[in-house]
Amino acid sequence: MPKTERWSVAENLDLKMVIGGKRLEASNGARIETEDPATGRVIGSFPAATADDVGRAVENSRAALKGEWRSMTPTARGRVLARAAAILRREADRMARIETLDSGKPLREARGDMETSASYFEYYAGMADKLQGDSIPLGPDYMSFTLHEPVGVTAHVIPWNFPLTTTARGVAPALAAGCTAVVKPAALTSLTSLLMADILDEAGLPAGVYNVVSGHGSEAGAALVAHPDIAHVTFTGSVRTGQGIMKTAADHVASVTLELGGKSPVAVLADADLDAAVEGTLKAIYMNAGQVCSAGSRLVVERKVHAEMMERLVARVSAMQPGHGLDDAAIGPLVSADQVRIVADYVDDARRANSLKVLVGGRRLAPAGMEKGHFYAPTIIDDAPADARVVQEEIFGPVLTVQIIDSPEEVVAIANGTPFGLCAGIYTRDISRAMAFARDVDAGQVFINQYFAGGVPTPFGGTKLSGFGREKGLAALSSYYRVKCITTRL
Ligand code: NAP
Ligand code: MG
Repeated sequence: MPKTERWSVAENLDLKMVIGGKRLEASNGARIETEDPATGRVIGSFPAATADDVGRAVENSRAALKGEWRSMTPTARGRVLARAAAILRREADRMARIETLDSGKPLREARGDMETSASYFEYYAGMADKLQGDSIPLGPDYMSFTLHEPVGVTAHVIPWNFPLTTTARGVAPALAAGCTAVVKPAALTSLTSLLMADILDEAGLPAGVYNVVSGHGSEAGAALVAHPDIAHVTFTGSVRTGQGIMKTAADHVASVTLELGGKSPVAVLADADLDAAVEGTLKAIYMNAGQVCSAGSRLVVERKVHAEMMERLVARVSAMQPGHGLDDAAIGPLVSADQVRIVADYVDDARRANSLKVLVGGRRLAPAGMEKGHFYAPTIIDDAPADARVVQEEIFGPVLTVQIIDSPEEVVAIANGTPFGLCAGIYTRDISRAMAFARDVDAGQVFINQYFAGGVPTPFGGTKLSGFGREKGLAALSSYYRVKCITTRL
């Protein structure tokens, strides 16, 4: 089979946006093309919503809050979400191929994303009829109780690294709580969020409950966040855009959840199981070519095992073959030419400004047949000082920096030595040391002896510049309901 045929899906990917259950073009007819990052080939397109289109989506979403959605019992609402999970699983193969083609990620990872996305709908389906309030004992003269009410229309501004999973992560708890949603996917990767509307339709979700305004962040995203009828904004992306969104939301006093990435440490102490530590480190930094907010991008290793860790990591990384995501390559392309430039600039800066040693990688790649793709070699930068830019800033690419410590006493200070605090991992056989680290590290999630331990049920979010608010697990639900307290004098 010719490669271009292998690297495609048998489907028209020229999509429309979704407003009030209708599939629409932008009011000015503008469209955005999306490419396969492995080849640079255009694979589909979708409308670029205008501020007016966004206004219409929010209006529809507001109307849907009061319609059929409101009159459904919470149990019936949960059933819609459970059906969505089942339909997404039925469509997982096709959806995963589209996600891979649009984002570049290896197919096994896109398949994992589809399963995770289905799991969000399944998990929160079970919660729809369990968001119950309390009764408050005020003595014999009063009856007092609380109701959990949906906050209203929620906005979901989605990044390009986990297009469907981030959509499902926010939308599933919002719908479980009885809210409606307007989603603004990243312009680089909008296809699966748009296609999810067909799945939710088939599952029986009333029109207007799930809307997708595809378009540019500067226009569609900004208009969505600024809309006075948006009650809550769930945002995942860069610190700068998150700060702007928080300021805009303040104008109409909308609440926000901000998930702004990180510079998460993976600590490996001398007593660790090094087999597990090597596997964990590779997964932590090279999954999705390092374009992961919770990536373990800083290896903090005790000097006694530094040489052995480097030897083993370099051997493994040197064997990683880049290639097309649909061929399930060990490492796929980055999402865009811009992202390759950002990553290359960081590595070049580390070489120039800090004279740091690049043990492996540190260059662009052009695999055969993919000369126009956006590939960057998996990279390790050794013995980086704590103040180097590559240690302090989120690179969002396949670049691991290594910091060496002389004793386990140093691990917390080094782990906490960046402006971020999303995740932290530690490999050690000393349970007390691991627990003390877990207690003292600035992070919303701590992984002991397995990087990326946990999943849909484990609460996720950051401290410091990584943001605030929690997603996943039961903790996510509180963003989507408000507590009303009713008290009667008897
Ligand atoms: P970004 O600007 O933060 O984009 C995230 C989302 O926000 C996209 O949907 C984007 O739309 C939208 N957006 C942009 N400007 C907006 C505005 N003024 N109002 C409302 N929405 C807006 O991130 P990026 O520029 O794509 O990536 C830059 C860096 O951010 C990366 O290198 C990485 O360090 C970080 N990042 C972090 C995560 C994470 O998971 N925490 C994810 C992605 C990126 P458009 O894409 O259509 O403009
Ligand atoms: Mg694309």
